[in-house]
Amino acid sequence: MAGLILIGIITIISGRMLIHAYEGGIAEIDARMSPVFVAQDLLYQIETIATNHALGLDVPDVQKSQTIAAGVANSFRTLFEAEATDPLATTSADTLVYELIATWRQSEASLDAVFRQDAGTQKAIDAYAEARTDIANINTLVARFRQLSISELQQRINSGRAIADTSFYFLLGAVLLGLLVLAAVIFFLARSVLEPIGKLVIAADRLGKNDLTYRVKLRNEQDELGQLGEVLNSSTNTLQQLYRELDRRSTYDGLTGVLNRAAFDDRLSSACQTADRGKQRLSLLMIDIDFFKSVNDTHGHQAGDRVLTLVAGALGNAVRPADTIARYGGEEFAVILPDTGATAATAMAERIRAIVEALPIETNTGERILVTVSIGLKTRDLETLPPASLIRLADGALYRAKEAGRNRTFSANEETQPTPSNIRTA
Ligand code: GH3
Ligand code: MG
Ligand code: MG
Repeated sequence: MAGLILIGIITIISGRMLIHAYEGGIAEIDARMSPVFVAQDLLYQIETIATNHALGLDVPDVQKSQTIAAGVANSFRTLFEAEATDPLATTSADTLVYELIATWRQSEASLDAVFRQDAGTQKAIDAYAEARTDIANINTLVARFRQLSISELQQRINSGRAIADTSFYFLLGAVLLGLLVLAAVIFFLARSVLEPIGKLVIAADRLGKNDLTYRVKLRNEQDELGQLGEVLNSSTNTLQQLYRELDRRSTYDGLTGVLNRAAFDDRLSSACQTADRGKQRLSLLMIDIDFFKSVNDTHGHQAGDRVLTLVAGALGNAVRPADTIARYGGEEFAVILPDTGATAATAMAERIRAIVEALPIETNTGERILVTVSIGLKTRDLETLPPASLIRLADGALYRAKEAGRNRTFSANEETQPTPSNIRTA
């Protein structure tokens, strides 16, 4: 902004200087020429007096002619002084002024000679002819001086024009430079301040919307804004790690690594919704380790924990990727089998049961621990069955499997079929 104001001031000043230069040139020419014009006028007057005297037409007024002559001399003196003080006056102009003065002295003498003769005589006419020649010489010199002044003025105008052109380009350059500096300042500000602030605002906004994946990337990481960005990124990192840990702990069982009860409830209800939307069947297995209390009692709680972990691992190996395993409580597990009918679910339950039974579990002392599971199964057919009812029915079948002697699979399907209405009321 200050640059633009400066440019404006320079423009006004240089404009004024140019106008002043032109005005000065004109005033100078005027000042230079006016004594010349005065002299010319007086010369004309004195020449008329001399003519009249020579031809005997009039009685000459000697006093008047002396005054006029003094006036001519005075005018040329003025011109001489002006020329002497003018620093721009050329040598040829000076020479002309010298010549003018010299010719005037000569004319003065020849005019005197005219007035010394008696009026109307041949001698007076002869002297007058000489004086006329001298005055004609003065007029010729005046014409040359005028020509010279005009050409000097022309030269000054030309050099003024050249100055005007130069100052125009100078101004244009200054304006362009000012604009360039302005653009550079805007660019620098935008790049170093506005852009990083914008990015930081976006990052803060994302963080506010719980998006912990967003990281701010700034061109310059060394300056204050860059360091702020780094702090924001590392805080988001920490938050993300904490959030993941929290999520893991609230979703997975700490001992076995499978889903916990709360996560299981969520998964089961969304699996039921998916099954409803896709008109698919879904089966649920409730798996309980047999006589687990005696494992603890015999081998200790730690061995019991290991058994739980190994059984969970065995379940993971037995099921398909789309199936879901959860620790339902204590030593009871649940497995959701999406898009699985009664037959396939029974086969899966039997597979699990056989795998667990064959698990090579040993205590620290190398003693084999035999573990078996009882499984209750319920298939949710194409009719809608709420998740709680599904669990209750599968759990009921598990209870009957225990009753029947354990290490076996019982299905709730046979009891609740054949009609869908039975399923709902079961
Ligand atoms: P059943 O065949 O009827 O299921 O008999 P059970 O002994 O397995 O059943 P019960 O309900 O009598 O005993 C379950 C035991 O499981 C009691 C409890 O101490 C133990 N238990 C529950 N959770 C854990 C655990 O996280 N670690 C260990 N080591 N034991 C657990
Ligand atoms: Mg048990
Ligand atoms: Mg139990």
